[in-house]
Parts: sequence; structure tokens; C-alpha cells
Amino acid sequence: MTRLFNDPDDFAAEMIEGFAAASSRWVRPVVGGVVRATRGAEPTVAVVIGGGSGHYPAFGGLVGPGLAHGAAMGNLFASPSAHQVHSVATAAHEGRGVLLSFGNYAGDVLHFGQAQERMREAGIDCRTVVVTDDVWSAPKDELDRRRGIAGDLVVFKVAGAAAEAGLDLDDVERLARHANARTRSFGVAFGGCTLPGADEPLFDVPEGRMAVGLGIHGEPGIDEVDVPTAAGLAEMFLDKLLDELPDGVTLPGARVVPILNGLGSVKYEELFVVYRSVARLLADAGATVVSPEVGEFCTSFDMAGASLTLVWLDDELERFWLAPCDTPAFRRGTVGERRAVTDDELAALDETREIGAAGDASRRAAAVISRVVTGVASMLDAHADELGRLDRVAGDGDHGIGMQRGSRAAAEAAAAAADAGAGARTTLQHAGDAWADKGGGTSGAIWGEMLIALGGALGDDDAVTGSQVVAGVTGMKDAVMAFGKARPGDKTMVDAIVPFADDLAERVAAGDALAVAWAHAAEVATTAAERTSEMTAKLGRARSHGDKSLGTPDPGAVSFALVTHTVLDVLKEDN
Ligand code: ADP
Ligand code: MG
Repeated sequence: MTRLFNDPDDFAAEMIEGFAAASSRWVRPVVGGVVRATRGAEPTVAVVIGGGSGHYPAFGGLVGPGLAHGAAMGNLFASPSAHQVHSVATAAHEGRGVLLSFGNYAGDVLHFGQAQERMREAGIDCRTVVVTDDVWSAPKDELDRRRGIAGDLVVFKVAGAAAEAGLDLDDVERLARHANARTRSFGVAFGGCTLPGADEPLFDVPEGRMAVGLGIHGEPGIDEVDVPTAAGLAEMFLDKLLDELPDGVTLPGARVVPILNGLGSVKYEELFVVYRSVARLLADAGATVVSPEVGEFCTSFDMAGASLTLVWLDDELERFWLAPCDTPAFRRGTVGERRAVTDDELAALDETREIGAAGDASRRAAAVISRVVTGVASMLDAHADELGRLDRVAGDGDHGIGMQRGSRAAAEAAAAAADAGAGARTTLQHAGDAWADKGGGTSGAIWGEMLIALGGALGDDDAVTGSQVVAGVTGMKDAVMAFGKARPGDKTMVDAIVPFADDLAERVAAGDALAVAWAHAAEVATTAAERTSEMTAKLGRARSHGDKSLGTPDPGAVSFALVTHTVLDVLKEDN
């Protein structure tokens, strides 16, 4: 249970403010997260990490000399937006390039990927290493589909130490990849986590039972067993992890760092009892333990659970794992002389899109758009619980909250832009940026892209025509598929958008009035969304759980269909 909060909606923002105030020795707040408060004598490659909030010390707690240069901090369990990642990376950049690193989750991959593009467009060399340590999230022959859990720390630490040693971006990237390839984790949970203000946990584990292979957002486990003894848990961890030795590692004789991680509400004392057996079993297997860690390194709110990470060292990894670092939550040895970072070096990013000239007709269209987005936001408010429930079946349960937050922010941004005299395109751009920033998650990024694509077809000059709307909706469809790489049949919102866009285009081409065509296409979207319940998920967070989603429709497809109906309702009321 999370007990201490003010307005639950403000929890992440207030937490980041308090964290930065308490940690000013190490970090300075910037738009989208925090960056180091100090710099060394020579510029280095910048290692920028991040992810949703709720995992402290990941991610802000790992920023400081010898570790990360900046952390993009998203909303609770929601990826930071591309805009936030880009802002933190730009502030952290010291002139020698940027390495982005984060756990492998669909939303983070999309947002960090987009931020990387923006960095490159600005002429900054930017690379990405995704952490994939969780052995239960995909089989051995699909290592790059595994998600990232406590192994994050290892990859960030090695990359940060390599940067601190003055290595160039090629080497920092190579070492981060190598650290990831040598790191494996296994997690379990005894009880769910409850987000601030929520009435119930994101998931339940029956009393006396333990979920095996559980992720750090409350994604359902892969299996469920009786809670073992501490020694029994250690055995279970090692049976699996010793069967997962990375290429090039042989026992006996290997050197290994064990990291026993509490996920939020397991006592250190319990962890030490488990560690006692972990140490013995590693010794029995002929491994030499180096600098073990027992504590909290990547949590999942107040989840009762633990994970074991094993890092199989070689000389290079050992050197960088043991190198000094100084961050709010993870410290080693003594780092060299530092000086305070200056305001100029943190050159605040002003990325707000300008409101340029617009034609009168386009301004009138912007006012209608603002009303439509407001209508969508209040509809999503009413459906948030239901969408959350759908997402809990095989995902992480946040689709309702994400859509609610995103659409609310989009409605505010659209109203502000329309009031300031923006045309249709600019109003939708503002709304799209706000949706991606505040909505988080995969769907936040996608809705942001969709609104921006729609705006692109409408322009800022003239009245909106039916054929522009068709072009805009086709643009939305293309944007989602280009961005998220999902295809029809993958059980995502694409399965509702494609039939919707195609039907709308066909009907308008056949001579139907826009409103008539839209009404028909909205029905097509609803049917298509319902049909996704017959599919199994191939993409997104739900993917690791295969058939669990059979019988339940895809939440993103359902919310898309709902939106198409609301658009129609608002337009009808308007006329
Ligand atoms: P997250 O998956 O990050 O928790 P949400 O729960 O808000 O984000 O949204 C989940 C929805 O996002 C899914 O139901 C699906 O419709 C959609 N989605 C996930 N991945 C993709 C993708 N690659 N392309 C299109 N839609 C996707
Ligand atoms: Mg979700």
C-alpha cells in the first residue's frame, strides 16, 4: 500500500521535486528528469538512462560521477516521452556524444528511439544499448526480446565507468553491450504493488504463493508456486541462472557479481538470509564471488518480491564494475575533483513549438478540434477503469490511467493553443506533444504521433475538407505502423486503426458525406476491436504472456474505437 501522497496525479512530479531537493549534491533538475550537478576536468561521453518512476533508485538515484550523467524520469511505471529524454540528453551532453540506456519495454524503446533520432538530427552522435537481463521474459534464443530488470544497474555502471575513464562513444557502447550480454536476472513476487491513490494492487498473489518470473511493473508472472524457504528460493534462483551461463563463461573458475535485489517491501534481513545460501551455492558451483550487492537497486513500488542478478565478469567488466562512483543511491571509493555545472552548460531547452500565423478558417477548425479533444478526455475519464482492467489481463494495467492523463493534457494544450490563435495543425501538434509527455507508455507515444500526423494533413491555413480528414486519418495509420512496427494481427491498436482508416477512405471516395462515412467507419472500428479478443499478443508488454490475453480484446484497440465514436458525438452536438 502506498500511503503518503497529496494528489495522486501529482505524485511523480512531486517525488522528482523532493528527490532533486534532497540530492542537490549530485543532481540538478531539468525538463524531463535530472542531470549531474557537477562536471569533471575533461568532457566525457554522456550516459543517459531512464524509465518510468516507481523503481527507485532506478533511475534518478543512479546519476552522479562514475555512473549516469542524466536520468529521464517518466510518470509512474510510464516511459518518459521522447521530448523528456531529448531534453535530459541535451542537458547532459558534454560534447562527446550520448549513450542512451534503459530496460527493454515497448514504451521506452519507442520514446528513447525517437529521442535518439532528434539528437542525431541536431548533429549529436547518439547510440542506444537496451538492457535485457530478465531470463523469464523470453527464451534463450530470443535474448534481445527479454525485458530489463535489476541488470540495469550493471549496464549503467559499466557504461558510466567507461565514460569516466575517458573512452570514446564506440567503446562506451561496446562495453555497455558486453555488460548486458554477461548479465542475467530472475525475479519473484509474493504480493502486488499499489500505485498512489489506487484502491487495489496492480495484481494479486494468493497468500502463501509466489509468482515466478515476474516483471517490475506487476506484469503477471510466468508460473506460480508455494512460497519456498529462503534457502529454497536461493536454490531456485541458481538452478535457473546457472543454466543460463552467457557464451564464453565456464564453471568452475568464473568470477561473478551477485546482486540480490529487494523489489520494495522485502526486508534487508530477509535478503541476507537468502544471500547466505546464494553465496554457498555459488561457491559450490566453483564460482568466485566479487563485490556482491544486497539491497534495493530496482524496485517496483511496494511490491513484495526479490530478484537475483548474476554478472559474469572478465577483466574489463571487473575493472569498470569496481571503479569509483558517487550517486545518491550507489557509491564506491573516491571520485576525483569535481566542479559545479554552470547554468550555461545546462542551457535550458526551449522546445515549445511556436504558434505561427494561421488562417481564420483554420482557427475555427482549431476551436472545433479543441472541443473534440476535450470530449475525448472526458470520455476516457469515464472509461479509465475499464481500460485499466483490460490491460491488467496480460499487460501492466496502466492503459486507462495513461489514456486519461494523456488526453487530459492534450485537451488543455489544445485549448491553450486554440485560444492563442493557432491553426488546426499547430493545435494538434501541441496536443500531441502533451499527450506523449503526460500519457507515457506505448499508447502515449503513439497517440502523440497520431495527433501530429493528423495535424500535418490539415495545415494551418484553410478550412478542413473531407479529403484532408481522410488523408489525415491515413497519415495516423501510417504513423502508428512506422513508429510501433506492429502489423494487423499482432493484437494492438493497429487492428482497429487499419480497418477504420481504410473504411473511411473507401466511403468518402465512393461519395459519402464525411459524417456518414465516419459513423460507418466507427462501427467497423468497434467490431474490429472486439475481434482482437480472438488474437494472441505478439508485441508490447503483453507479449511475454502469450495466450493469457486470449478472450480479452486489446485495450489500445478498444480505446481507439471509443475515441472514434466520441469524435462523432462531439461533431454532431456541434452542428
Ligand atoms: P504500455 O504497453 O506501455 O503499458 P499502454 O498500456 O498505455 O502502454 O498501451 C497498451 C496498448 O498500446 C496496447 O493495448 C496496444 O494497443 C498498444 N500498443 C502496444 N505496442 C504497440 C505497437 N508496437 N504498435 C501499436 N500499438 C501498440
Ligand atoms: Mg499498459
